[in-house]
Amino acid sequence: MIPTPASDSGVWSAPGRANLIGEHTDYNEGFVLPFAIEYRTRAKASRRDDGIIRVTSTFDPTPVEAALDDLPSLFDHPDHGIPEWAAYPLGVAWAALRATGIDARELPGLDLAFSSDVPIGAGLSSSAAIEGATASALNDLWALGLSPLELAKIGRTAENDAVGAPTGIMDQVASMLGRADAATFLDCRTLATESIDLGFDAAGLRLLVIDTGVKHSHATGGYGERRASCELGAASMGVPALRDLTLDDLPRAQALLDDVTFRRVRHIVTENYRVLDTVRALRESGPHAIGDLLVASHASMRDDFEISTPELDTAVDAALAAGAVGARMTGGGFGGAAIALVADDLVGAVTDAATSAFAERGYAAPHIFTVTPSRGAGRDA
Ligand code: ADP
Ligand code: MG
Repeated sequence: MIPTPASDSGVWSAPGRANLIGEHTDYNEGFVLPFAIEYRTRAKASRRDDGIIRVTSTFDPTPVEAALDDLPSLFDHPDHGIPEWAAYPLGVAWAALRATGIDARELPGLDLAFSSDVPIGAGLSSSAAIEGATASALNDLWALGLSPLELAKIGRTAENDAVGAPTGIMDQVASMLGRADAATFLDCRTLATESIDLGFDAAGLRLLVIDTGVKHSHATGGYGERRASCELGAASMGVPALRDLTLDDLPRAQALLDDVTFRRVRHIVTENYRVLDTVRALRESGPHAIGDLLVASHASMRDDFEISTPELDTAVDAALAAGAVGARMTGGGFGGAAIALVADDLVGAVTDAATSAFAERGYAAPHIFTVTPSRGAGRDA
């Protein structure tokens, strides 16, 4: 059947995201609690009649195009030669065709022009934003009728198989399903989601991002090593994934595993509890009650998972000393950003404290800004 497009042109957008808590739990089939932020990637889309998909971006104005019909054969090869940035949106188109089984020859072509205010490579998932904007545009223009979760899966397929970045689905889910003033609680095993009210505004709180600007060269290797340790831990404990372990299993894990593997396992097991505790605390007591969980999450990443850096520890310590309710490094680690939950009237003090602490240690000045939990992907015009 030839799908009837809802319209011929329009503007769609999708946000970046920050992760409130739940770090490295995604590939252990555990829990995460990210939220969409106000920074977005926009896709201005219009139909063309020649079966070509053509993408441009303010990020790299050289247009890249491909025949829709050629996408399968293109992306079947890992060295497809498509410029990396264009593999995100073209990969989404390819993954959407694959997921729906629609024959590309039945579809009109498409121009997609991207612009974005999501900082790239700052750990706020500009990649999920461009995927989400593309997926939302295609869903409407090609009348695919897919749910936000299905669109998130298409984004992940594009990122994993077209771009070649082995990531989980947290970013795409956060970007697709975000809601203002709420986080998305995601069970990475079942992909069940639930929107959890954050209530930062009502509680007089702001979420600060303290971007250290540092990305260590061993980040990729470190990520792979952590994944391998988690797999070893799960296999040694006889469970499919670390998600299946409880706090009661930790003494046995300590007796069985070498010290390093044990501490990696302990981070994942306790972090899953912290996500569940954060969800409960938000529901029962509001956001002031989650500070200690954020701090405990940071300590676990610093001491057990060993993915923090001196810059991230400095950011967290300075924020807490200046009165933040809670703070932790966020993202994959080995650099990147910390978040701090801060009372409105302390935003200036925490910013100054982190900036001076960095200067005292001779680190480059951090980039500090607030993020606001915001709506997910959708049509804007
Ligand atoms: P992050 O998601 O943390 O920002 P990633 O490395 O996962 O970092 O994704 C960044 C990449 O995504 C960029 O290098 C670029 O290839 C692509 N990208 C993101 N936003 C855009 C955009 N607006 N235009 C073109 N490419 C983009
Ligand atoms: Mg990314």
